[in-house]
Amino acid sequence: MSYDNTQGREDLLAFEREQPENFWRADPHLRRIARHWVGEETLSKWEPDLHRFGAECAGPVDRAVRENNLTHNLPVLRRWGPYGDRIEEVEHHPSYHEAGRYIYGSGVMKVLGEPGHNLHSQLFGFLSALNGEAGHNCPLACTAGVIKALMALGTEELKERYLPRLLSTDYEKLAHGAQFLTEVQGGSDVGANAVRARPGEEPGTWRIYGEKWFCSNVTADLILMTARPEGAPEGTRGLGLFLVPRRTPDGTINRFFIRRLKDKLGTRSMASAELDFDGAFAWALGPIEDGFKNMMTYVINTSRVFNAIGTSGVARRSCFVAHGYARRRKAFGPPIIEYPLVQETLADMRSETLAMMSGTFHLLHLMDRIELGEASEEEAGYARTAINLNKMRSAQSAHEVCLSGIETLAGNGAIESFSVLPRLLRDNVVFENWEGAHNVLLMQVYRDAKQRRLHEPYLAHLRALSEGHPRLSSAVERWSREFDDVLSAAEGEATLRMRPLGAHLAWLQWAAAMVADGTDEEIIEHFLDRRIGPPAPRDAL
Ligand SMILES: Cc1cc2nc3c(=O)[nH]c(=O)nc-3n(C[C@H](O)[C@H](O)[C@H](O)COP(=O)(O)OP(=O)(O)OC[C@H]3O[C@@H](n4cnc5c(N)ncnc54)[C@H](O)[C@@H]3O)c2cc1C
Repeated sequence: MSYDNTQGREDLLAFEREQPENFWRADPHLRRIARHWVGEETLSKWEPDLHRFGAECAGPVDRAVRENNLTHNLPVLRRWGPYGDRIEEVEHHPSYHEAGRYIYGSGVMKVLGEPGHNLHSQLFGFLSALNGEAGHNCPLACTAGVIKALMALGTEELKERYLPRLLSTDYEKLAHGAQFLTEVQGGSDVGANAVRARPGEEPGTWRIYGEKWFCSNVTADLILMTARPEGAPEGTRGLGLFLVPRRTPDGTINRFFIRRLKDKLGTRSMASAELDFDGAFAWALGPIEDGFKNMMTYVINTSRVFNAIGTSGVARRSCFVAHGYARRRKAFGPPIIEYPLVQETLADMRSETLAMMSGTFHLLHLMDRIELGEASEEEAGYARTAINLNKMRSAQSAHEVCLSGIETLAGNGAIESFSVLPRLLRDNVVFENWEGAHNVLLMQVYRDAKQRRLHEPYLAHLRALSEGHPRLSSAVERWSREFDDVLSAAEGEATLRMRPLGAHLAWLQWAAAMVADGTDEEIIEHFLDRRIGPPAPRDAL
């Protein structure tokens, strides 16, 4: 036997060459989901743009995002202009803007100009998320929240002034958004917000004072933020929702001051900062006393579903990379894909990913129905709980799937320059923590059920979705009983039981969505075996 490394390197190059050239074309599951929820006729109108963007995401966007995530290309804070003028700018590498031109140019924000296009928008969002956060996908979620809040609550003047730019596909001219809630004393406990608002000079205008601790997309043209008007009650009840422009109506830079950029584990090419507000000009959006409610309804719910699209993209890309690698990498003779243990890992990754995609796109479909006024009360109640559980579990599952991908590549999986997986894993850790940490989402579901009985429409709709699939229906019954039991348990015990309950309910949501969108029964069964059925012998070890 002769020993030579030529073939080993050839195999790696072949793996790289065989990665998808077009993320839309390479994904029959995504196309099936889209076709199911919007119909053949509508999809055929959308498809040319999706096809084009699928190729861009697998080609120039992928290359640009890899480049602007290199340590020496990360964003740099530039607070002052050449003449000592305060500019509060962030300088990005040119490849960051190159990626942005493609991403915004896809129409991902533009289509939100018409109600009922969340799913449409997030087909683009998903393709973009195959490159992780990509520096722009968090800003997209924030911009979507600003668009929705403005459309629902803004004055005609504000809408005219900002909506055309927020919906624009022209990267050089468009406007993008940010959303700031978190303060140094806590992100989950928004009711503890200390940033203050004082009435401004003109009616409807305000001045904002205080510090926000996590401010992503810090150079956004429009910031949506929470602040407490002086004299307002404590807790979330006393929070108003404010729109803070980067530049005041007279064109000067608003009175916020960037302290520093965060040195982050993931989402590194997107700039997150700490900010001081010292009399920043703001408009109130909607009635002041409804600030928190409006933030949750129009902004946070949207970004929780967009977040799940982000994590689904991480998982899907992990599948592409791991499967392609396993076909080419040889160990002890054959390609590693021939080993049952590798096959099982790949099959588990795949079923989890397809399930999460089905579950998340189903929620986007429901959001569209709600926006169009077509959803029943049961569907709207279902969506409220399902969005929270889906946000939690999709982030956890994507983490596991990405780690399995890294395990499949083994040593090469741990190398940043070898594949995108290390970066995607780091991005995913951030996805897990913003827009609601896992425990906080579980506790919200628990409180909603305990105080507002929201589990009733949720379970009723889950039952309806799983009708006709005996195995799924019986699992839904089992976990519905557990939900009822948890609600009658003492609070400490109930809290602990929420963790397995929340995970299983999310998996059931995904399975029900797969049944609805016509996913192959073989995939559904594999998923149910792993997640819902009796434990396999290896789990009992
Ligand atoms: C890179 C990055 C960018 C960000 N950008 C933004 C931004 O642009 N705007 C913004 O507003 N925020 C932003 N955030 C902040 C993010 O939203 C918060 O980190 C998140 O909401 C959690 O808040 P926290 O970090 O203060 O954690 P905490 O609220 O302090 O929670 C700490 C831990 O306690 C647990 N916990 C909290 N309450 C409970 C409970 N009742 N029961 C059980 N466990 C509980 C949590 O699950 C968590 O594990 C960003 C974060 C990161 C990492």
